Amino acid sequence: MPHHVVDIWWSDLRVMDRGLLPLLDPVEAARAAGLEGAADLGRFVVGAVLLRVAVGRTTGRDPWSVAVDRTCGDCGRPHGRPVVEGVHASVAHAGPLVLVATAACPIGVDVESARRGPDVAAWVRQEAAFKAHGSRDVAGLHVRPLVTPLPGHEAALALTRPGEVAVHDPAESSTALAAARAQASRSAR
Ligand SMILES: [Zn+2]
Repeated sequence: MPHHVVDIWWSDLRVMDRGLLPLLDPVEAARAAGLEGAADLGRFVVGAVLLRVAVGRTTGRDPWSVAVDRTCGDCGRPHGRPVVEGVHASVAHAGPLVLVATAACPIGVDVESARRGPDVAAWVRQEAAFKAHGSRDVAGLHVRPLVTPLPGHEAALALTRPGEVAVHDPAESSTALAAARAQASRSAR
């Protein structure tokens, strides 16, 4: 593949629905159960389900059979950045926004509220770099800003190789999550 495609999926808290909870794996369900606050729960659940949808689209696998390893490299608890076999992935959220990315090379994405301060554009670049290669140094990476679907936010993408970017907007994510939710309710019967 001369130009591998990076998939960027935007979503937001409006699609949060308790009907998505059955789509979580047991580790994710335990984490969700421990989250206080509707916004924290919504960001986590939408991010976790959208990650599986995105990986399924990229790899052609059944999203619900995809194993997601969230083991933290520091403490071993399941709150680390998600690792998926066969594809690189990154998840970020800020306020109502949820951002999921998949790529054929190590990738990092970050999104933050612009209210964090004047340096937020630089901050998201460094955070994306950290997720892509473990250092906030952007040297050697392909870093670019992402247009956010809501004003008042900054977002960035960092890749270890150049690649074409395909952006899936919140409407497309919403449709994909609604289909996933319908599938979950059918199989629960
Ligand atoms: Zn930890």
